[in-house]
Formats: sequence, C-alpha cells, structure tokens
Amino acid sequence: MKQEKQNTNTLTGPGLIRDQSELRSQLNLSLRSDETAWFRAEKGMPFLLPSYYAGLMNISDPHDPIRLQSIPTDKEFAVAPQELPDPLGEKNFMPVDFLIHRYASRALFLSTGICAMYCRHCFRRNYTGKLQAPTGKQIVSAAQYLKDHVEIKELLISGGDPLTLSIVSLDRLLGIFRDYRPDIVFRICTRIPVVMPQVIGGTLVEMLAAYRKNGLYVITQYNHPVELSFESREAVRLILDSGIPVLNQTVLLKGVNDDAGVLEDLMNGLVGAGIIPYYLFHPDMAEGTSHFRVPLKRGTAIFKQLRAELSRLALPEYAVDLPGGLGKVSLSDSGIVEAAGNEYKLRNSNNQIFTYIDFIE
Ligand SMILES: *Cc1c(COP(=O)(O)O)cnc(C)c1O
Ligand code: SF4
Repeated sequence: MKQEKQNTNTLTGPGLIRDQSELRSQLNLSLRSDETAWFRAEKGMPFLLPSYYAGLMNISDPHDPIRLQSIPTDKEFAVAPQELPDPLGEKNFMPVDFLIHRYASRALFLSTGICAMYCRHCFRRNYTGKLQAPTGKQIVSAAQYLKDHVEIKELLISGGDPLTLSIVSLDRLLGIFRDYRPDIVFRICTRIPVVMPQVIGGTLVEMLAAYRKNGLYVITQYNHPVELSFESREAVRLILDSGIPVLNQTVLLKGVNDDAGVLEDLMNGLVGAGIIPYYLFHPDMAEGTSHFRVPLKRGTAIFKQLRAELSRLALPEYAVDLPGGLGKVSLSDSGIVEAAGNEYKLRNSNNQIFTYIDFIE
C-alpha cells in the first residue's frame, strides 16, 4: 500500500529570516545606508531569506555576491526608462489563467507565487510573492488546454518556486497534468537546491522520481560558485541518484558574476556536481533591476572568453529574452546580426530581426 505522504510546508518553522530584526539576531551584518528598502510600504517584492543561504555570506564584504542577491536595497525603487512591469510581455501569452504559452512546443505553468528566497534580481517580480496559488479548477483548465494543444511537448513548472508547495500539492498538480497529457515532459524550475537545500529530502525526491517516466528534469539557478556548497551538492546528488537529470540556468548579474573567471569556476563546478549548464541569461528589463544590468557589449565579451576556456559540456547557451514578448534570442553566435553603438539587430529562432537598445552604464 502506498504510504501516506507527509504534508510539509517548507515556509513555516525555523530556518527563515523574515525581517530586519531576525536578520540582526541571526547575522552580525551591518547594513549599508542603501539597504533599507524593507522600511518602505509593501510596494516592492517581499523579503525572505533562508538562514542557510545567509550563512554563505561573507558579512565583512559589503558587495558580497550572496548579499547582493538577497538583501533588498533602495535601488529596487528606481525604475529606468526601458524597464517594464511585465518585461517579457507574458500577459499576452496566457490563453488560460496561470499558463504561459509563448513557444509552440512548450508552455510554462505558474504553480505558486511563493519562493524560499526572494532574489533581488527576480524578473518575475510582478508575480513573486503576490500571485495567489491556482485553484484545483484552474489547474484542470490548464491541463485541458494542454490536452487540446498536442503541439506542447514540455511543461515548465515555475512560479514562484514549485518546491515551496507541499509534497502532496505538487504531487496532485503533476498528477492532474499527466492525467490529461500522459506524454508531457516536466521541467521543475526551482532555486530550492541553491537557497534551501535542506528541503530536498527522500520523500520529495521519491515523489518526483515517480514522474520520470516520459521525462522530468530539474532546472536550478546557480549564479555564483560559492552557492555550490557541500549541502547544496548533496541535495543535487540525491536528485541525480533518483535518475532525474539536473540542468542549470544562470542569470548574468552585475557585481555578482559579470566576470569570466567567476563564471568559469561556476560552470566547471556545476559539471563537477553533475549539473549541466543550460542557459546563461542576459538580465531582463524588469522594473527596479538596473543595478544588476550588464551592458550587452560586456556580456558578449565575457561569453567570448568562456567559449575559449570551457568545454562544450560546461558551456551554456548565452541568450536574452527580447522585451515585449518577442522571445529568446541566442547571443552565442548567429543571434547578433549587427551592432552600431548601443543599438543591436538581433535574430530570433523564427529568423525575424529585432532592434535591441542596450542599456549603457
Ligand atoms: C524560456 C521559456 C521557455 C523554454 O524555452 P527553452 O528555450 O526551451 O528553454 C518556455 N516558455 C517560456 C514562457 C519561456 O520564457
Ligand atoms: S526563486 Fe526564482 S521566482 Fe523566486 S525570487 Fe528567485 S528568481 Fe524569482
């Protein structure tokens, strides 16, 4: 008989820093004068930081890469002219609630708005921490859409972070989608192995592994080699040992990893941990993220160096999502047609050419 699965909620109990006083009591961190964003009303993205992830921080470094990704700053309230609340125009590609169908062969389901950590660079910040969870009825509508659109081969389970759902809820969600589409391939997009690896336990992995038949992949987001800690690698090992492949998407972030040496260490570290580097994303034009933005010129120079140094296995695809829902464009080779100053002509996978105005420092 199937054992009753435990209904754990990863976001209660110890292990999370929720506000400034908890941050003060758990970390001996003196805040910079611009790290006061949480005093502002509920305007921006919420704050939540796993104690484990905070522990990776070098608190004496005011520009530590872990700190930059996790501590809110006043810069988040500065909106640059080219920044948008919905930078990828995803609202135009939602045929049913919670489902984004932007590319013919794959769709993305917003499974929750909750994350274990609110990454200060998040480009889904118009959803994260705000989106209500889909109801059973809404999940069924999305599943019906998948049934009606057999051209969709893969479903990205995203959000928010799907691994903040209870094991029972996530199991139910995946079960409904497979009921309607037994052949659908799942991609679980999660930062939990990076920011709160303690959540990755036997019961969760066993539940996920039961969906391996017909394909299930875990996609993580490691942005810096420091994140490949012993605990984090152990969590990934548990996933890999169950037969689930793990791939990674890195976001190129100013001050965090906009350095060829750092990215080389990261990509080699990932391969050593059994994780395949999949994408290196140029940062999106999300509101309040200009302090993380790297000029395209600098990004392409860094990538050129990576291509010279890394094995093909360790080399991710460098890509940018064009503003306004025009899709992902490879910056690895054929994507850049022409560059004049900060104006670029980029070619998407449908061979359409778009103008991209680069951000200049
Ligand atoms: C990136 C993305 C995908 C997946 O694209 P791949 O290139 O196959 O990884 C699917 N849907 C949306 C909305 C996306 O942004
Ligand atoms: S885990 Fe993902 S969705 Fe959540 S805040 Fe970080 S980048 Fe955004």
